[in-house]
Amino acid sequence: MRTIALGLLLGVMGMVGAQAQQTDDARVVLVMTDGLRWQEVFRGADESLLTAERYFDKREVSSLREKYLAATPQERRQKLMPFLWSTFIPQGQIYGDRDAGSDAYVTNGFNFSYPGYSETLTGHGDPRIDSNDDRPNPNLTVLAWLSKQPGFQGKVAAFGAWHVIANAVNPEKCISCTVNAGYDPMAMSPMTREMKLINDIKANSPRVWEDEAYDAPVFETALEFIRVKKPRVVFLSLGETDEWAHAGNYGEYLESAHRVDGYMKTLWDELQAMPEYKGKTTMIFLVDHGRGPAPEEWRSHGQKVPESKYIFMGFMGRDVSTLGVRSKVPPVTQSQVAATLAKYLGLDWNEQEKQAGRPIADAVK
Ligand SMILES: [Zn+2]
Repeated sequence: MRTIALGLLLGVMGMVGAQAQQTDDARVVLVMTDGLRWQEVFRGADESLLTAERYFDKREVSSLREKYLAATPQERRQKLMPFLWSTFIPQGQIYGDRDAGSDAYVTNGFNFSYPGYSETLTGHGDPRIDSNDDRPNPNLTVLAWLSKQPGFQGKVAAFGAWHVIANAVNPEKCISCTVNAGYDPMAMSPMTREMKLINDIKANSPRVWEDEAYDAPVFETALEFIRVKKPRVVFLSLGETDEWAHAGNYGEYLESAHRVDGYMKTLWDELQAMPEYKGKTTMIFLVDHGRGPAPEEWRSHGQKVPESKYIFMGFMGRDVSTLGVRSKVPPVTQSQVAATLAKYLGLDWNEQEKQAGRPIADAVK
């Protein structure tokens, strides 16, 4: 009798433990790259735009054409973003392929960066955020809220190539968060040799853009922080895709999208090699806004470019159904991302923020 009772007790404890583990261990990595079009993600490189006139001062583009062009959209997108197409999407799902009857769009009405990051991080548009001015977000973000939940204190981190990302997260409201953006050096305790090196490279690289660092040191900063501190929620915001597009440099715009894909692969592979993350992590990938069409408006976005409201959003990893490229489905919006992200962690953002979009039902198991 005694043995049976103990066995039962252990069985019950085991179940409780397993249930608790469902949410206690969950981790999310949110990756955004500024203004990458859904067109490149789903169709690959646009041949009509990949010309010397749209590269560095008419630099030769034959190697880039070799690298990114192919006969079909399926082959071209695979060349542009191989991790996305061979790992992320087959193991997850993605919205926003307008050719397949799936629309994803921003609801803030502005179609530029700060409103898009705020919509993503809060779950709603805000008419007060009508510029890219570097001001603190007046709203509570899902990251700031998460950082106050049990098990998340000191476990939320945000890294932005664009300096304004820090204020979009709002470190004053995200007190226990680690936030590093723009050219600011990363302070970490203990400091590692690698982080010092990354800080040096960032500090001593050309400042092509006044308020935006190159993506590479920003990515490396996030990766090194993850290795050392093992945060549960990471927001990585990259920016070159938008900058090169504004500059009319389609060749480098493609190269930066390709690099982002490589960063996601490196990040995912490293996470799967760490017991803290393996099998426990969901990755989300989207953009703050889209851009206009070829031949000229692809450089631009905003209220005057209506097509720039269209975005893509993908999900992979823990608790994501493997539905691949979504086709002929109802539209989804950027305002649904915050609640979806929280749901992967077993938490209800809509309870806190009534204005927020609901989680994308199909995206969470
Ligand atoms: Zn822009």
